[in-house]
Amino acid sequence: MSKFTVIGAGIAGASIAYHLAKAGYSVTVYDRSDQGQATRASAGIICPWVSQRRNQKWYRLVQEGARYYPHFIDELENATKRSTGYKRKGAICLFKDDHIQELAFQRISAKQEGSPEMGAVKKLTKEQVKAIHPHLTNEYPAVYVEGGGQINGESLLDALKQGILLYGGKWFDQDQAPTTLTGTVIYTAGAWSGEFFQTPMVYHQRAELLHFKLNHHLTSQHTPVVMGLGPMYLIETGPNTFAIGTTHEDTDSFDLAPSIENQRYLLEEAKRYFPEAIINDHYVAVGLRPFTRDSLPYMGFVKQNVFVVNGLGSTGLTAGPVIGREVTSYLLGEETTLNLNDYNY
Ligand SMILES: Cc1cc2nc3c(=O)[nH]c(=O)nc-3n(C[C@H](O)[C@H](O)[C@H](O)COP(=O)(O)OP(=O)(O)OC[C@H]3O[C@@H](n4cnc5c(N)ncnc54)[C@H](O)[C@@H]3O)c2cc1C
Repeated sequence: MSKFTVIGAGIAGASIAYHLAKAGYSVTVYDRSDQGQATRASAGIICPWVSQRRNQKWYRLVQEGARYYPHFIDELENATKRSTGYKRKGAICLFKDDHIQELAFQRISAKQEGSPEMGAVKKLTKEQVKAIHPHLTNEYPAVYVEGGGQINGESLLDALKQGILLYGGKWFDQDQAPTTLTGTVIYTAGAWSGEFFQTPMVYHQRAELLHFKLNHHLTSQHTPVVMGLGPMYLIETGPNTFAIGTTHEDTDSFDLAPSIENQRYLLEEAKRYFPEAIINDHYVAVGLRPFTRDSLPYMGFVKQNVFVVNGLGSTGLTAGPVIGREVTSYLLGEETTLNLNDYNY
């Protein structure tokens, strides 16, 4: 039987290993869980339809990713009896004024036809925004997307690890074993991939999320994901706890010390979106997002028996599960839903 070794188990490696093990193949995973691993640091928003990005290869991937999520999570949680923190409470996308809201509504609702999993798309007045998310400012009108969701990267990885072990795979919390590896080796090393290969060239972006607690409970309901103005977003991370982000900083550095300046900036943003709340216990989590030159994930052989998946960028948690499914089919010589040749060179 074919053997597979996976080096690096953020969402890319863990998802591929899980799908291979579930298909009955022998899989061994090595992961050293570097500080700055993108998957655990991620906000975990699954709402690709609202992006203004026009690249069709990227869109096909994340659209299929969002479509696959509910089924994937159902199977994983049922098999492992672990919660991944997946929830679909919708997404509120805020806009500066009614004119921009209208344009955005047209643009987003035009995607519904090809993506029924988006659910309903509605315009919300400022008052309706406040009714759905009582902490949030009533400064802006919004578009609500019913199918918007959120996943907890850390819980998802824990469940995937359990799933891999359940289906007979092995997982070692360490660097790549020094002995010669047999079978197909899959490198999914995220920002650290330069230690092995230059194809694809992987760059990284430092991203910071400010986590915080609010002084009082206004609601016991789960609140939707909030896509703020510009690149800002807000997520609920637990009872009365939230996170806001992110910063985007292209860098060669692996320094993960939080920046005081960014922390101040994110705190100001948190106060702007939650103007009536007192924000306590805040801290910054830093992650390294891996990118390729064209900001598209790379999936392909770089030499015989060596397959690389990397550059998942800012939507890696959305795409990760379906990448696992598709790469597994590709490696086993089965038909894939996506054309994987769109993602290699
Ligand atoms: C702050 C932040 C917010 C984000 N928000 C979102 C979001 O809302 N929605 C979304 O879809 N995506 C989001 N992303 C993007 C997403 O998190 C990433 O695209 C994705 O996690 C990348 O996964 P990966 O497996 O490629 O890399 P990583 O998760 O970084 O995993 C790489 C792993 O390889 C291991 N490794 C490296 N070298 C070796 C070696 N030699 N031996 C063993 N192990 C090794 C590392 O230790 C690490 O565990 C966000 C990212 C960040 C940082």
